[in-house]
Amino acid sequence: MAETPVVELEGVERRWGGDGLLVAVEHLRLVPGEAVAIVGPSGCGKSTCLDLLAFTLRPDRVRRFAVTGRDGQVHDIAAHWAAGRSNALLGLRAREIGYVLQTGALLPYLSGFENAMLSRRLLGLGGAGDLPGLFASLEIASVVHRRPAQLSVGERQRVAIARALAHRPRLLLADEPTAALDPYQAEKTFTLLVELARDQGCAVLIATHDPELARAAGCRIVPCAVEPGRTVIADSVPA
Ligand code: ADP
Ligand code: MG
Repeated sequence: MAETPVVELEGVERRWGGDGLLVAVEHLRLVPGEAVAIVGPSGCGKSTCLDLLAFTLRPDRVRRFAVTGRDGQVHDIAAHWAAGRSNALLGLRAREIGYVLQTGALLPYLSGFENAMLSRRLLGLGGAGDLPGLFASLEIASVVHRRPAQLSVGERQRVAIARALAHRPRLLLADEPTAALDPYQAEKTFTLLVELARDQGCAVLIATHDPELARAAGCRIVPCAVEPGRTVIADSVPA
């Protein structure tokens, strides 16, 4: 039997404005430990797709949008949206999802360590959990007492990765996570992000315009099919 997916989307659509771009996630399915890259040019709808998956953007139409929690419970995301159950969506997001944004989005008045702790504090988890190991793997252990302004762009991004994994999410979303880094740092950081998530058994979905980077890190590639006014994201449907 096929492994239970962490997340499964079929026919999940969002249109920007009356005649704006339609982003249609026709089929997307991730199992634990799997790394997938959504690849497409700037403006094609990759961030839209990730925001749908992070429950920050409400879909206009849904055939199926299911998230399976760590406890094995299957959550119908469309039903949560339809019933206005924002607390259920917030709770699911806090427990099951980690999100790395392009520029890290760290709070400037907290140290790197305190920033990385946020995902755990939100859940009331005691202690630092996996963070010491994550800091060591990400080679930032000696600098995490500093605030973001005293960190390099690459270090900030690695703090953001630690934060996104610190609460052991089931799904790690990363939106162009290495776009602000030089090519050497980008490849190293992209690969590390995928490896660390896999080590945790976490599924990873990364949006990138760079298929070479995604391939080098061992990601399965899901290309965005860009048509006038419409982008379709479709994973190969398993037999
Ligand atoms: P990508 O991440 O691939 O660069 P996005 O998902 O950010 O693409 O955006 C895709 C398209 O959706 C944009 O080109 C724009 O036309 C539209 N869009 C994105 N965000 C908004 C918004 N907040 N309001 C209106 N249109 C938007
Ligand atoms: Mg984007």
